[in-house]
Amino acid sequence: PASDTPLAAPALAAILHEVFGYPAFRGPQAEIVAHAAAGGDGLVLMPTGGGKSLCYQVPAIARHRAGRGVTIVVSPLIALMHDQVGALDEAGVPAAFLNSTLDSTEAARIERAMLAGELVLVYVAPERLSTPRMQAQLDAMAAAGRLSMFAIDEAHCVSQWGHDFREDYLALSMLAERHPGVPRLALTATADAHTRADILERLALQDARVFLSSFDRPNIAYRVVEKDEPRKQLLAWLRAEHEGEAGIVYCQSRKKVEDTATWLSAEGIPALPYHAGLDAGMRQRHQDRFLREEGLVMVATIAFGMGIDKPDVRFVAHLDLPKNIEAYYQETGRSGRDGEPAEAWMAYGLADVVQQRRMIDESPADETFKRLQRDKLDALLALAEATDCRRVRLLRYFDEGSTPCQPGLQQLCDNCRQPPATWDGTEAARKLLSTLLRIQQHARDTGRGARAYGAGHVIDILRGKRSDKVAQTGHDQLSTWAIGAELAETQWRSVLRQLIALGHVLVEGEYQTLAPSESARAVLRGEVALHLRQAAEAVRGRPKAGGG
Ligand code: ADP
Ligand code: ZN
Repeated sequence: PASDTPLAAPALAAILHEVFGYPAFRGPQAEIVAHAAAGGDGLVLMPTGGGKSLCYQVPAIARHRAGRGVTIVVSPLIALMHDQVGALDEAGVPAAFLNSTLDSTEAARIERAMLAGELVLVYVAPERLSTPRMQAQLDAMAAAGRLSMFAIDEAHCVSQWGHDFREDYLALSMLAERHPGVPRLALTATADAHTRADILERLALQDARVFLSSFDRPNIAYRVVEKDEPRKQLLAWLRAEHEGEAGIVYCQSRKKVEDTATWLSAEGIPALPYHAGLDAGMRQRHQDRFLREEGLVMVATIAFGMGIDKPDVRFVAHLDLPKNIEAYYQETGRSGRDGEPAEAWMAYGLADVVQQRRMIDESPADETFKRLQRDKLDALLALAEATDCRRVRLLRYFDEGSTPCQPGLQQLCDNCRQPPATWDGTEAARKLLSTLLRIQQHARDTGRGARAYGAGHVIDILRGKRSDKVAQTGHDQLSTWAIGAELAETQWRSVLRQLIALGHVLVEGEYQTLAPSESARAVLRGEVALHLRQAAEAVRGRPKAGGG
């Protein structure tokens, strides 16, 4: 819609002081608030903790004062609605939510106040917004000039490319058609270029102004460790760095969540499990305790976290690889909302890479979708394997240029704190790739076709280790048999992991067969030099083979 001018900038600043008690707008808030108050459409991309709520709350108040009626806030999270309405209540702003937790009398009372234009903000779940009842109410309000604005929170949920896709969000595209005169402000803390374009299209915000804030979280120190014995690594790190502090540990499976929580508790670190398989009562209790008590560790699947506003989460740990960089950014972003130093820690190993690839391959999605997921995973792997600044890599993914971590301004990432040891892995890579080629050739020659030869078997061939599988396959006859005895198994795992991350080795098909990619040719021909990250175990000279 064309901009109108209900209130001037000084009035907006006055609302910020009087209602919220803050002295000044932060970063791009002033501009966003002015734009929205004047009736402009917008997309706000701002990191967690950046202050997105005020971006629509202040304009909502301004427009209500100017007689434009009610702002409808679409939010997927019931817990968040409660918190926000509670806070607005305390600030003396008439606000309410409409969701499934209300009984019909309460809901009817709120609907009356909404229709009468008495409320400034009404929070609505997306599935409710598209009901005929709500549609009729919105039409009535619009006809009476009491429908001021739509704020669409967690707007990335509309994108099927994103990691939080919600079917109900798709229906929000009808807002533009049904209410072309009502301004819309979409907000999200996560969106790479692709998701961003998707949001603009699906919410019909092509003509909206885009407000892109810096996504840097200067107080978060990023750290990736090579998986060895991940639980022990986690425990050692928690004891050394985060004794008595609150944090979140993400695991992939429900079982691992439970096991890890039990184990940490037994080791003297108070920890609670959280996943979608626990009953609602227990989830609520655990969440409440995490928010209220000090120094609790929440061990959780990704079911936990969206909308959790706990300012003093001091760390987020990943025992398993997240889906992609957006998910990683979102999840790690739950630490340090108070601006105090916080740490994002991730343990990462070969099995993670293989498993994530498999999950994509085996998903029922179409090929285009899978390809995109693979590209996104590759970007995450590149971040995990990076030997340079992780902050730079992370921000570059969000199209933001940055310099490496600067002491005093930012918490240093591991690579900036101590540049990792690298070595010339070109020769090792060639040995490994040749072995994969020989295995393929051998399969063709013997008419056996592709088989499941996992990392362990390939490394056995390289190291000349006579296993049962070697005996069965006759792979001790390959010309590359035992050509890699100089490296330990851990080192070979590290080489293979990096070759996969760099895209020189593909993990393919039903059997997750390892195969050289197109780009491997240049490596094999010796045209590309590979500077690989030194395996942590090799650096410390530990004999234990990495299980991850
Ligand atoms: P987001 O939704 O972007 O994660 P919030 O809206 O929850 O962030 O804001 C994060 C915190 O910052 C909240 O505690 C909020 O009150 C505070 N905040 C936001 N804007 C300002 C401001 N202009 N001045 C002071 N504090 C602010
Ligand atoms: Zn750095």
